Amino acid sequence: MASKVVVVGGGYAGIVVSRRLDEIADVTLVEPKETFVHHVAHLRAVADPRWIDKIFFPFDGLLSRGRVLRDTATQVRPGLVTLASGGRVEADFVVLATGSDGPFPARIEATGRDEAAGRLRELHTSLEQSAGVLLLGAGPIGLEFAGEIAAAWPGKPVTVIDPATELLGGRFTVEMRAELLRQLDKMGVRLLLGTKLDALPDTPAGVVQPFTVATGNGEQLTADLWFPCYGSTVPGGHLGAELALARQPDGRLTVTEHLRVSGHDRVFAVGDVNDTPELKTGRAAGRQAEVAADNIRALIEGGPLTTYEPFPDGMILTLGPSGGAGYAPEFGFFDAEATAQFKSTFLLDHYRGLLGAAQRHG
Ligand SMILES: Cc1cc2nc3c(=O)[nH]c(=O)nc-3n(C[C@H](O)[C@H](O)[C@H](O)COP(=O)(O)OP(=O)(O)OC[C@H]3O[C@@H](n4cnc5c(N)ncnc54)[C@H](O)[C@@H]3O)c2cc1C
Repeated sequence: MASKVVVVGGGYAGIVVSRRLDEIADVTLVEPKETFVHHVAHLRAVADPRWIDKIFFPFDGLLSRGRVLRDTATQVRPGLVTLASGGRVEADFVVLATGSDGPFPARIEATGRDEAAGRLRELHTSLEQSAGVLLLGAGPIGLEFAGEIAAAWPGKPVTVIDPATELLGGRFTVEMRAELLRQLDKMGVRLLLGTKLDALPDTPAGVVQPFTVATGNGEQLTADLWFPCYGSTVPGGHLGAELALARQPDGRLTVTEHLRVSGHDRVFAVGDVNDTPELKTGRAAGRQAEVAADNIRALIEGGPLTTYEPFPDGMILTLGPSGGAGYAPEFGFFDAEATAQFKSTFLLDHYRGLLGAAQRHG
């Protein structure tokens, strides 16, 4: 009998681990979303709705032998996963790939494809109607969002505010940060660093309604649409008591060099949910998934375990379709042209291929 593997979460890590084990194990992938959502391209999609239909890939081509359950794990324990629908799935191996959460529009709560696509379309309309946008947070999401808005609606006032005194918290190279500052300035994005709002706007986030807020520097800012672009969280309410013991204060799970949850030989955690010392990215999630799958295969078939090597710091940050900057240790500095070229397709074909959606859904 094939070993039973239950993968919890069908994001960037979960799809890779599931597909890689499909031929040697009895794989069950549990995921509440109707389709895989390529949320790395969300911000482009709200600025350019032609992208909206491209970022949802059905799960039906992912596995040949295994199954994808549209469900939510409410309790994960070594050997057993309990589902919101009331079902229970036994497992020889569990892989936690439940990722992280953040505010809309970087992430979307809706699990249905049409509902999620509808939210992105509504946001496009709101941005179109807005007379001025305020983004809280000058991390990668705040900056990419500002770049998309400024590129799609030149002249629309966009302000980004962050208490940190340096862009991206001083991380990455000076050259990359200087280039981003130069491009943002050219695009007309106003960047307020080293200060924060005295209080949040009194209008709901993401709704077009005029407001005025004061900054710590005593300046009054007026806009009619605002978004929090900070505050990523790592959900863990579904973890059974023995797994919850491995949670760090930030919610991430401590894993060994083989990506097993500390203290549990047959439970793996991959992607944003674990505490590997590196930037949390889709790229790292995918590589971790490969290593975890190979280690599960080694435990099933015999063989040495592979150690996961975290990625060194690197990031390619877009500012609209033709701007941005980046740094990757293997390639060095990326200027606007190299960034735009690298991110021109958001690796759509790569993810389509992984989902087995290339032929079916072109
Ligand atoms: C706007 C934005 C842009 C980004 N750009 C880039 C980029 O350019 N390059 C890059 O490498 N990275 C990028 N990232 C980071 C990247 O998206 C994350 O690192 C990546 O999503 C992590 O993958 P994951 O599989 O760990 O988690 P996720 O992709 O978040 O997937 C987790 C999945 O688990 C499911 N889940 C959660 N709880 C349960 C449960 N209880 N039961 C069942 N399923 C559950 C969720 O529905 C979700 O589908 C970006 C992130 C954002 C938000």
